[in-house]
Amino acid sequence: MSDRPKIRLYVDHALQPGQTVALSREQANYLFNVMRLGQGAEVALFNGRDGEWRAIVAEAGKRGGSLVCDVQTAPLMLPPDLWLLFAPIKKARTDFIVEKATEMGVARIIPVQTDFTNAERIRQDRLQAHAIEAAEQCGGTFVPEVTDLQRLDRLLSDWPDGRRLIFADEDAVGRAAPLPDGAATDALPGGWAILIGPEGGFSTAERDRLRALPFVTAISLGPRILRADTAAVAALTLFQARLGDWR
Ligand code: SAM
Repeated sequence: MSDRPKIRLYVDHALQPGQTVALSREQANYLFNVMRLGQGAEVALFNGRDGEWRAIVAEAGKRGGSLVCDVQTAPLMLPPDLWLLFAPIKKARTDFIVEKATEMGVARIIPVQTDFTNAERIRQDRLQAHAIEAAEQCGGTFVPEVTDLQRLDRLLSDWPDGRRLIFADEDAVGRAAPLPDGAATDALPGGWAILIGPEGGFSTAERDRLRALPFVTAISLGPRILRADTAAVAALTLFQARLGDWR
């Protein structure tokens, strides 16, 4: 593969040789005013589907511009079929979870409303923009979908066949392994999900229900109570090292 340009941009546009890609006002501002690129400069483009492409600046204006695709510089690299379910917390910490989950490699990010979730709504568009920025920054060619807030009880009732759920249970400390030995060898027909609770933890009813579900495995993240954002990164690290694409 050819050298990859350093400046990367996500575009919602098909990418192929000779393809012209029109820039939005924000994208033109970033490339031409912030990064000071001009005509003929190289930019790496990705759209989450077609890998990464080198593109050349054809027009550079104050409020717009266009690029022309040249060659593919990296293939599409999909993350493991892993969803991150987390209960939204304070704004900055929720942003952190979305950013880190994208960097660590997940297929989908699902904010969930639990019995003790602090937030009743989220700005899905803002969180999706954070995932895009994180993918631009980390060299990824895939952007996980960030869904709207979903109720955990409904999600569990409609749980897809074959998908396993790893439940980070602060009450499992001393009773469950970080990831049970069998987990790596169990059949994985439908992928995985990780569930992280809110600052207030899970209610007794939620914990009892989760523990009784056949597709759920409770895990411990050690003897200390971690903040939800720390717990998300810790659980994703364990998963990637044991079952994901770090092996
Ligand atoms: N309020 C809860 C308490 O005091 O027991 C703590 C909740 S913790 C801040 C937020 C979430 O992170 C938990 O619901 C759990 O999913 C995860 N978590 C934090 N520490 C953990 C640990 N040691 N083991 C497993 N999960 C943990």
